[in-house]
Amino acid sequence: MSIQLFNVVYGRDLVSKLRESLSEPYLVVSMADLWPRFERAFTHSRHHVHLVDSLEVRDLEALVRDLPSVEVVVGLGGGMAIDVAKYIAWRRRLPLFQVPTSMSVNAPFAQRAAVRDEGVLKYVGWAVPETVYVDYDVIRTAPLAINRSSVGDIACYYTAHWDWAMAQREGKCEPQWPYDEYWVGQSRAILDGVLDAADAVHDVSDEGIRALMNALRWGGASFNNTGWNPRPIEGSEHTFFYSLEYLTHRPFSHGQIVSLGVLLMSFLQGNDPEFIKSRFDRIGVAYQPEAMGITWDDVRAGLRFMPEYWHKAGNLWYTAAVHLPITDSYLDKVQAWLAG
Ligand SMILES: [Zn+2]
Repeated sequence: MSIQLFNVVYGRDLVSKLRESLSEPYLVVSMADLWPRFERAFTHSRHHVHLVDSLEVRDLEALVRDLPSVEVVVGLGGGMAIDVAKYIAWRRRLPLFQVPTSMSVNAPFAQRAAVRDEGVLKYVGWAVPETVYVDYDVIRTAPLAINRSSVGDIACYYTAHWDWAMAQREGKCEPQWPYDEYWVGQSRAILDGVLDAADAVHDVSDEGIRALMNALRWGGASFNNTGWNPRPIEGSEHTFFYSLEYLTHRPFSHGQIVSLGVLLMSFLQGNDPEFIKSRFDRIGVAYQPEAMGITWDDVRAGLRFMPEYWHKAGNLWYTAAVHLPITDSYLDKVQAWLAG
């Protein structure tokens, strides 16, 4: 099985060094709250800046049309800036450098950009960066809760594997994605590797950053490596996130909301939820709704809306999100379990 992973470089002071690699004029895609921190590293060079405010295809296409001519694209930020940089590099056929400023999501290591079409998630495009630069000190400036919670985008393999086995058992597997022991084993080993490094991830030490980023690196490229099969790494926990995002129209830290999804879905699945919760607690994952500015009413609405979102999206695979009913009794029990 051939596995292709993106180039990644770990180190320090990488943002200020980046400029020497960039042919001018270049484009930096970042976020309004991050840019003031990095702006100085790019002064006295010809460049344009785009601060991301939308992932809607309509807006991104307008951006691609209206942007001045540039030679290179740099993505500097969390998942949204990384995805928009990817989209522009793809549509304009430009070289790309990615500099994630937090650990939250596998986006820096994946070929396709996660965008929204009328609020519904779509993965589109193809962009392989020259290199992904992971600067230890930059990563550590992100909130601890965000960095630690990025384990969610790996822990989702846990619930996804239950979903895949269930679909196989129920005869509901998509014909192109029959249950595959090889990919379940590979992704489970990645998940176990991160759980084994729980203390280093908790501390966001250099070792913890490498453990988590290397796992996200594997996960990001796996969609392509498996022949665009999402099942080894994504299941009902992501459907919960998409459903909630669709209802609330607000951005989330990906790892954080997916972590909550993993707990809600492992409980629904009867899939030893205590095991994964104990690991999250050891790492210090901020999975409580309040930690992401939502209420339990939002969470319950997101859970109830999953089947409708699943039908609306039309491109999601068969998981617990549609197989198991969301009853009042489940909602009360899972809330009592997590809200303690
Ligand atoms: Zn994800």
